[in-house]
Amino acid sequence: MIAEIISTGTELLLGQIVNTNAQYISARLASLGIHLFFQTTVGDNRLRMEEAIVQALHRADIVITTGGLGPTLGDITKEVSAIVFGRKLELHKESLARICDFFSQRGLVMTENNVRQAMMPAGAIVLENKRGTAPGVILEKGQKVIIHLPGPPHEMKGMFEDAVVPYLVNRYNVQTIIHSRVLRCVGIGESMLEEKIKDLLLRQSNPTLALLARHGEIHIRITVHSSDIDTADAMLDEAEKSIRDRLGIYVFGVDEETLAEVVGRLLVKENGTLACAESCTGGLLSSLLTDVPGSSQYFTHCIISYSNEAKMHYLGVREETLAQYGAVSEQTAGEMAAGIRRTAGTDYGIAVTGIAGPSGATEEKPVGLVYIGLAASAGITVKEFHFSGDRFLVKQRAALSALNILRCYLLNIGTK
Ligand code: ATP
Repeated sequence: MIAEIISTGTELLLGQIVNTNAQYISARLASLGIHLFFQTTVGDNRLRMEEAIVQALHRADIVITTGGLGPTLGDITKEVSAIVFGRKLELHKESLARICDFFSQRGLVMTENNVRQAMMPAGAIVLENKRGTAPGVILEKGQKVIIHLPGPPHEMKGMFEDAVVPYLVNRYNVQTIIHSRVLRCVGIGESMLEEKIKDLLLRQSNPTLALLARHGEIHIRITVHSSDIDTADAMLDEAEKSIRDRLGIYVFGVDEETLAEVVGRLLVKENGTLACAESCTGGLLSSLLTDVPGSSQYFTHCIISYSNEAKMHYLGVREETLAQYGAVSEQTAGEMAAGIRRTAGTDYGIAVTGIAGPSGATEEKPVGLVYIGLAASAGITVKEFHFSGDRFLVKQRAALSALNILRCYLLNIGTK
């Protein structure tokens, strides 16, 4: 089933209003599993509107228009579709009665113009407007359908949900069960991820996949349409498996699950404990960890060692290390991680040191350079990162990467 949207109104073409109607209808059609390949915006001009409707009818089964149902001479949508389908306009008495009621209930005077709104193409299914005066219209001719909806967004949405969705479900047996699942990924860039699942992205119709980069994570939303829940779930499972086969360790969680929750669960499983030493993340890593209820079971504390003195005093980082390699260095990150693990007496110590920017960079140490150290019974490992983005994003990415390093370690992948 293919639909097209025609948004009418010179205001749209002049950029005076934003076309939120088309956005709403597109999203709803997608969720109903109805294809949409073209959208057109046309002014209040008879010839051009006729051309737009005729063209859309060539390409689609259903043409949905918004706007131009009002009482003024510029409101011509119904007249044009009547011409296209070869119908006469006739007075729809029930609509006229409703419009009269609408005015009298509000103590308003109805003008002659408003009668125009009750003129309908012969044979039209008339849609009641519970929120305004202009009724909507469904006009059928063989396999082709034109649906006219009013322009004001709240009237359009109301009529779409009250009348158009039931009509589409009934006529086309569209599948109304929409299920979605989000796979959350970390440790991989958006373009690399896209490359890995390119084949799935290209062949998508049902399920559909959408990528969203969010605060250092990439979310893959899988959406399926089906007639029943069990089939929808099975389709989601299958799509999830295909994605996991391609992305492996980069997928850390599903739906609302956070990286800190995953790490917490792994620590609880092995009865492990953790403490952090944070420089550039300023406590963000610990904040993420303690967002998880019950984190006191494995997380003991954090030292926010921003200054060199704090790094030496609380973590035992050596003065020579700082002097020789600097605060943002592999060596300092390693000593910070070892220091926090030793002083806290925990199984794991994580340390983060870096340059969040925008100031503080040098030629050798640019903004976004971050070292993350992990100390465990097996020894110390330090990883170097180059994050892009503003100060907030660098901190966010650094904190997530620290969690991810520990996750991979606990899963026995990479460093253990
Ligand atoms: P009315 O009965 O109010 O005249 P109508 O069906 O004739 O309704 P229009 O006159 O085309 O609709 O538009 C009325 C108002 O609805 C516009 O001034 C604008 O504020 C809003 N509107 C129209 N089309 C859109 C659109 N595509 N997206 C968002 N708002 C719209």
